[in-house]
Parts: sequence; C-alpha cells; structure tokens
Amino acid sequence: MFRLHFNRTGRQPTTWLLDVPIFTVCPNCGFVPHEALRYVGSRYGYVGSFTCSSCGARVSITDGDCRPPVRFTAAVPGDPQRSFIYEDVYRLNWADLERAQAVTRTTLIPPGEKGYVDVAAALRALEAEVVRLGVPHAQAPLPDGVSWVPLPMRAWLDALHTLGV
Ligand SMILES: [Zn+2]
Repeated sequence: MFRLHFNRTGRQPTTWLLDVPIFTVCPNCGFVPHEALRYVGSRYGYVGSFTCSSCGARVSITDGDCRPPVRFTAAVPGDPQRSFIYEDVYRLNWADLERAQAVTRTTLIPPGEKGYVDVAAALRALEAEVVRLGVPHAQAPLPDGVSWVPLPMRAWLDALHTLGV
C-alpha cells in the first residue's frame, strides 16, 4: 500500500507524498543503492540518515516538514546536496492523476476537500487498462539525474507511458 495526501481546496489542487518508497542518493559520490527507503514524511523536517556503502559518507535526509523537496546532504567538506521533488519524478502530481482517471474511467482521487489517494489501487486500475487494451509494455524514460526508481514506481511510470498518459 502506498499513498498520497491530496488537497483540492485553495487556488490549485495538490498531491504530495504520504507513504511512498523513495530512492536515495549519496551527494558525495553519486552512489544510488538499488534499495528503496520507505518515506513517511519527517519530524520537523528530519527524515533520517544513512552511511553511503560506496564512499562511507554520512548522509542526512531532510524535507520541508513533510512537504517536498526531499534533500540529501553529505557530512563531508562543502556539505554537497541533492534534492528531488518525488511527486514530479514519479508523476504523482494532481494533473497526472487526473489524466490517469480519464484513461481508466476510474475515480482515483476520492471526493472531498482533503484525503488520501491509494496509489497501489490506482496502479492496479492502470495495469488493468493496459491488459484490456492489449498494448505492448513500454518502458518509461526517467528524468535527468535519476538512474533508478523502486519497483512500484517503475511500474507506475511504465503504465502511464504505455497508455500514453
Ligand atoms: Zn557516497
């Protein structure tokens, strides 16, 4: 189960990560372990930390108090940083979900002003549509600077790409 928050009040409806697997990166050496981190927001902006298995740098992970972007900072001279807006990398923005809703003719964003999007259910709806149409699986290109994404998000990106969303 992986989920997003949504809020359709205000000027522009938005979605942001609630419980989604993220890739990590070492800003010191660029190493990306092929192992997902379960991102469930932060406490006052602190998400967690890890030691890079390639260069040994200590890397801390922070966010905007449960809001994007998620930032990686290596504790080495110069404090190199990398940050990602995973909602963009993963195509989990409001507009992406609206297009997925249109393609699957399924309600993926529940009614109401605020709540949660069940991304796993949305992925099942997309994959069912791929099967129904019988279109060949197409692998989605990843954005610049992103070399790997965890499996459920890879499947999500590929299903959107396959359906031409
Ligand atoms: Zn490293």
